[in-house]
Amino acid sequence: MGARLIDGAGIGRRIRDEVRAEVTGLKNVGISPGLAAVLVGDNPASQVYVRSKIKACYSLGIHSEHVHLPADTTTQELLTRIEQLNQKEEIDGILVQLPLPEQIDERTALDAVNPLKDVDGLHPVNAGRLALGRESLQPCTPSGVIEILRRENIALRGSHAVVVGRSNLVGKPLSLLLLREHATVTICHSRTRGLSDVCRQADILVAAIGRPAMVTADFVKPGAVVIDVGINKIEGEVLLKFLQADPTLRLQHEKNRAEGKNYVLAGDVNLFSVSDVASAVTPVPGGVGPLTIAMLMKNTVQAARLRRA
Ligand code: NDP
Repeated sequence: MGARLIDGAGIGRRIRDEVRAEVTGLKNVGISPGLAAVLVGDNPASQVYVRSKIKACYSLGIHSEHVHLPADTTTQELLTRIEQLNQKEEIDGILVQLPLPEQIDERTALDAVNPLKDVDGLHPVNAGRLALGRESLQPCTPSGVIEILRRENIALRGSHAVVVGRSNLVGKPLSLLLLREHATVTICHSRTRGLSDVCRQADILVAAIGRPAMVTADFVKPGAVVIDVGINKIEGEVLLKFLQADPTLRLQHEKNRAEGKNYVLAGDVNLFSVSDVASAVTPVPGGVGPLTIAMLMKNTVQAARLRRA
C-alpha cells in the first residue's frame, strides 16, 4: 500500500468543532440555529441517516426537529408540512430525506423548500446560483470533497480534475465547485468513451458512480489523488467476489461479522488496486462520508447567519 489514506473522519471532526464554536457565537447574540429533517415512510437506510443527522445536531447544540410522515403521504400533504417549516422562524434548514416514496413528486417537494433554508443545496435557485458562481447553499457531499482537498493542501488551481458521475446530487455540483477553484474539469458518465484513458489524465480523480470497486489502477495516473464518493452495500452471493477483488475490504468484513452484520460498505474505487499508483486516496468508510453530515451542520449555521444575523 503506497498511497496515503486521507482521514475524512478526522477532517469531519475538525469541521464539527468549528461549527460548535460558531453555534455558541450565534447563541451569544440570541440566534439558535435549527434544522428540520423530514422523513417520509420507513426506509431503514433513510431512518439511519436521519437519526445520525439529528444526533449530530444534538452534539453541536443545534436545535432539531424530526418530522416523520407515514409512507402513504401525498405530495400535497408533504408540501403543506414543508410550507409550515418554511414559515417557522426557529427553523433555518429543512432537509427532505431522499428517496421519497413513489407516489410523491420529488421535484415538486424539493422545489417547495424556501431556497434560504435549502441546506441540501438542491433547490434550482441554489443550483443556479452555484452555476453562476454566486454565493449559495451548496450540496453537502460535493462541498465536503472540496473541504478535504483544501485541508489536505491538494493544489486545485490549474490541476486536471476528472469527475466520474454527473448526478445533480454529486457529480454536477462538484464539477462546478472544482471549476470555481480553478481546476480544469472533465466530467465523465456512462456514455463516456475510453473511460479509463480519460481518468488516467487526472491529477485529481473523483469517483461518484455507484458501482463498487469499479475504479482500478489502470484508471489512475501515477501520483494522482483519488477521491471515492461511492457507498455501496455488498452482501449475499457477490460478497466473496468483492472480498477477493479488494482484500482491503476483508478487515471491515471481519469487524462487521463480529457484530452480526454480513455485508461490507465498498466505495467505487478498488482501494487495494489503486494504492500502488495513487499518492493519496479516501477510504470507504471514513473518507468522504463523514464530511456530508459535517457540511450539513455547517450549512445550517450558514443559513441561520444569512437569514437572521
Ligand atoms: P447516481 O446514480 O445519481 O449517478 C451515478 C453517475 O455515475 C451517473 O452520472 C452515471 O452516468 C454514472 N455512471 C454509472 N455507471 C457508470 C459507468 N459504468 N461508467 C461511467 N459512469 C457511470 O448516483 P449519485 O451521484 O447519487 O451517487 C454516486 C455514489 O455516491 C453512490 O455510490 C452513492 O451511494 C454515493 N453517495 C455518497 C454520499 C456520501 O455521503 N459519501 C452522498 C451521496 C451519494 P449517467 O448519468 O450517464 O447515467
